[in-house]
Amino acid sequence: MKLLTVIGARPQFIKAAVVSRAIKVLNRSRSHQIEEVIVHSGQHYDINMSDVFFAELDIPAPNHRLNLTKTEHGAMTGEILEGVERIITEVKPDIVLVYGDTNTTLAGALAASKFHVPIAHVEAGLRSFNMRMPEEINRVLTDRISRWLFCPSQAAAGNLEREGARTWQVGPGIQPEIDIVGDVMLDAALYYKEKAKPTDAVKKIIGHTGGQYYLSTLHRAENVNDLARLKTIFRALSDISRKRPVIMPLHPRTRNMLPVDGSLSDTLIIIDPVGYLDMITLLANCQSVFTDSGGLQKEAYYFGKPCITLRDETEWVELTALGCNILTGANYAKIIDAENQLTAMKVENTLLIYGNGDAGGKIVNILARR
Ligand code: UDP
Repeated sequence: MKLLTVIGARPQFIKAAVVSRAIKVLNRSRSHQIEEVIVHSGQHYDINMSDVFFAELDIPAPNHRLNLTKTEHGAMTGEILEGVERIITEVKPDIVLVYGDTNTTLAGALAASKFHVPIAHVEAGLRSFNMRMPEEINRVLTDRISRWLFCPSQAAAGNLEREGARTWQVGPGIQPEIDIVGDVMLDAALYYKEKAKPTDAVKKIIGHTGGQYYLSTLHRAENVNDLARLKTIFRALSDISRKRPVIMPLHPRTRNMLPVDGSLSDTLIIIDPVGYLDMITLLANCQSVFTDSGGLQKEAYYFGKPCITLRDETEWVELTALGCNILTGANYAKIIDAENQLTAMKVENTLLIYGNGDAGGKIVNILARR
């Protein structure tokens, strides 16, 4: 069976590493064989947003790389769509596999649907219910045309049920299959935490803080493209860092917006994005996380760290319900207040709300038996 994996953004490399490894395990069993062909859309291309993940996480080198020339949503999605269409014609895959909610996800799924190639969507059913988020549009549309909806949680499957997924048609007489497989990022966290050896650069940065620090990332369009929100978040993080240093591996999109006006404390330690293994080290040793990332909210949970989410809503509703994640949006007073609550927050992370770390194996077994 030939599987065409379409990836292109940082979190997709981490998720795809999990599934590629599960494919290798399956192929060794010889009962089923999956030939994986990987397309890298080029959505993220820097060494520290792309290459480092392939090198560290042992992801097979992409068989195809698209040459993106544009960054606007429409143009980028169009270029990926065109590129993936060309590759589908050449490779003739049995299934196209996409991850998450980026332009690469939607373009890969759209290309497959026009050639009637069944689509498997990992991280199906997540919803922020905010249709102004590009990610929300990408996920809703990708789910609607996918044959396999691999959900990370009960809540995600519930969202699909409520949207009527059981009645959708994704081909003549073909209805989608909803599988709650758990979160592939949990597989990644469990597997790579055993392998994480920090680089000297990260050891030095942690050492600089005396081992007491918060970890923060920020990259969502809703925060970065809105100068008022961006300034407020940086002002809050800067003030908090005077109590406890904040290490912030910063996404290039956010970095391009700096300096936001006002003086940032030098205890807000802004560094380039780091590889996943360094990120795990930073997570394991921090006191808490401040982020607008989807992936990092769960990783904070997996590593037993309370999380303050710099967004107005989250797709990972289990975490706010458990009280280990506080939503503050870009509200200065709420961010400061949430920081004051951190020491009292308990992270009960043995509940298996996102599965037990075998999502990759479940996904490939289902696809292999299709
Ligand atoms: N990450 C990383 N290096 C960094 C920042 C994040 O390896 O400098 C990892 C993080 O641990 C998580 C993933 O990237 O596994 C999250 O990606 P991102 O925040 O870009 O996307 P989202 O999860 O919000 O879709």
